[in-house]
Amino acid sequence: MPSFETIIGLEVHAQLQTKSKMFCGCSTRFGSAPNTQVCPVCLGLPGALPVVNVKAVEAAVKMGLATGCTVARRSVFARKNYFYPDCPKNYQISQYEHPLCSNGFLHVEGGEKRIGITRVHLEEDAGKLIHLEGDDHSYADMNRVGVPLIEIVSEPDIRSPRQAASYMQKLRTIVRYLEICDGNMEEGSLRCDVNVSLRKKGSDKFGTKTEVKNLNSFKAVEQALEFEIERQARLLGEGRKIQQDTLLWDSVKGESQIMRSKEEAHDYRYFPEPDLLVLDIPESLIQRVDTEIPELPDAKLDRFVSDLGLPKYDAEVLTSSREIAGYFEATAKELGDAKAVSNWVMGEVLRELKDKKIDISQFKILPRQLAALIAEVQSGGINMPTAKDVFRDMAGTGNEAKDIIEKKGLKQISDEGALDAVVVSVLDNYPQEVAKYLAGKDKLLKFLVGQVMKETRGKAHPQKATDLLKEALEKRRGS
Ligand SMILES: [Zn+2]
Repeated sequence: MPSFETIIGLEVHAQLQTKSKMFCGCSTRFGSAPNTQVCPVCLGLPGALPVVNVKAVEAAVKMGLATGCTVARRSVFARKNYFYPDCPKNYQISQYEHPLCSNGFLHVEGGEKRIGITRVHLEEDAGKLIHLEGDDHSYADMNRVGVPLIEIVSEPDIRSPRQAASYMQKLRTIVRYLEICDGNMEEGSLRCDVNVSLRKKGSDKFGTKTEVKNLNSFKAVEQALEFEIERQARLLGEGRKIQQDTLLWDSVKGESQIMRSKEEAHDYRYFPEPDLLVLDIPESLIQRVDTEIPELPDAKLDRFVSDLGLPKYDAEVLTSSREIAGYFEATAKELGDAKAVSNWVMGEVLRELKDKKIDISQFKILPRQLAALIAEVQSGGINMPTAKDVFRDMAGTGNEAKDIIEKKGLKQISDEGALDAVVVSVLDNYPQEVAKYLAGKDKLLKFLVGQVMKETRGKAHPQKATDLLKEALEKRRGS
């Protein structure tokens, strides 16, 4: 599609990790029996009045500050009217004309690309309709009704599906750093609607956009956008018009289907929520929340590069999770060699977490213990292949490296006298290989080193073994 430019905007919903709902005291716990976390307020029974959850407001302010938004001292809740079985009040309390936070931004692609954030506003979630296999009924679970959400609306600054996924990833990292949302996309705590349109290259007018709803993985965001861009390009290429539709993505079939023609804002008959006062935020609350914001991923990345001397790639991987970054930093502080620790964390540690499907808080090797293991390698106590075995043992048992090395007798053999004896016996055992090596087949050195490693059950110091072998072979050449 050389003639079209892609314009993408995202609306991301993040469920806030508060104990109670947005406007009532019901629990927000995930996974409880259906309809056990409901009350007259969230069920919208007549006469029940909403009360704002201040923890949700603080979380939204936090997100606004973390993304460079202006936090409005006065914002307004509004009713968004729609009729659907998962919405018992027939309206959702959201924010419309006067959102809590506006005009922010974040960076993706290693700081190269800035994506504007139009607004971050507060609203409540809807319920869930459940359809069971082989059952033609719809079941409604109202536990999620009234759970606090923030909606983060981006500017139409995104130009490719890859960029959209990176933006979504960055948002997830930030809400997790802030500890306001667990970012669990499978459980729907973080989900995304994408808006996409095409326009002729060089044009500054937007084309008609379509919206794909409820994408709950980075892969789905990317694939749904790719599919939709292709569909629009095909229609435009045939000289047809794009309808402003809302589509649903089917991740199994890998295609989107038109759900309904897109509603306009006036279809929702927004008006200020008469049961709530204007949301008045004292300056003191904004200041206090600001002090609670931890070092954010971009700042941490810069510091890892400038203070610890890490390559940008390492810093990016390590700071993608606050917990991993913390683990890395604690280990690097113990050892005093950031790059060596980075290699271990990005390699063995992340692989172990992935294999065992655990997070770093459940990982058995403490930073102090990993530093001690790396120190064993650096001092020549054990070689790298042995260290990786010891690592796996530690990850299973939580034991100290030095105890495992001692108990299993894994100490590296660096003593020249001991190695020399092995070298001599290997050369005696493989006279043909020795002869071929001396006749010019250099590659056989590797084979002979392998035999020394085998004889010592992997414990020989590889470089010393190689040096000694070369020396002994040269002697035989002379004799
Ligand atoms: Zn309730």
